[in-house]
Amino acid sequence: MFKTCTCGKEMNVRLRTVIYTNKVSITNVPVLCCEDCTSSEVVPEIKNDLKYLIKQLGNQPELQELDFGESNEFAYMLGMATRKELSHRAIDDLVQDRINQLLDLLILASSLDDQTWTKDIERRLVQISELTFST
Ligand SMILES: [Zn+2]
Repeated sequence: MFKTCTCGKEMNVRLRTVIYTNKVSITNVPVLCCEDCTSSEVVPEIKNDLKYLIKQLGNQPELQELDFGESNEFAYMLGMATRKELSHRAIDDLVQDRINQLLDLLILASSLDDQTWTKDIERRLVQISELTFST
């Protein structure tokens, strides 16, 4: 997930707020930033999810603020990992906790026969299993 900038420096992942059509603030969007030449781009792994979220807003969105962590596990985990009170914990631990939490929710959702919820949790489990945190 790490990338080298066109200027040759390594880019870092940051959580940024993205403003869409001057109306919608999308917080906690993982963005690759270069400290050296200040160029930045959205993390490739989350591009499709971000596009999907924006598409759902339509052409005339209302003034609102969205948390990207609500719809994307990558953003959620990054947010968790950067929270001060959890910073002493290994990212692997946090991911494992989150997987257990999602599996519990999956059991709950399927026992309630809630298809939409079940699908959403399954999608999140796929996202989280694709995460690789290189250190
Ligand atoms: Zn650069």
